[in-house]
Formats: sequence, structure tokens, C-alpha cells
Amino acid sequence: MHQPTNCPKCEGRMVTGFIVDIGYGAVAASNWQEGEPKKSFWTGVKQVKSQQHEITTWRCERCGFLESYAA
Ligand SMILES: [Zn+2]
Repeated sequence: MHQPTNCPKCEGRMVTGFIVDIGYGAVAASNWQEGEPKKSFWTGVKQVKSQQHEITTWRCERCGFLESYAA
């Protein structure tokens, strides 16, 4: 997986992490879903698990800039 070494904005150090997604009693890393969001009466937005990629996000220690990859 590509890992940025320094912040493209301020050259600060990039620290690995992920965006926390809080659901019904569960906490998970956010996923990237291919395609447009399609509204669902039951779940808010329809999703296709097989088309999803877990997102890893790097954060700059100095300025807070976020850079995400869905590998
Ligand atoms: Zn920065």
C-alpha cells in the first residue's frame, strides 16, 4: 500500500489511522463503496459489500491534513 512520507501541504509527518464509523452498537473503519449512493428505506443507503474497500487515512501531525487510500 502506498504510504505518504510527508504532508503535501506543510511537509509535516503523516501518521497512519482510519476514520471511525459508528453504527448500531458497533464501531468500524469506514469503507469505500463504488458507484453513486442509492437511498434505501431500510438502511439509509444501499451497499454492496463485495464492491467495498476499507479506507486507511493518514493524518499530518502538524496541520491536520488527511490523505486516504482504499486499497
Ligand atoms: Zn501538514
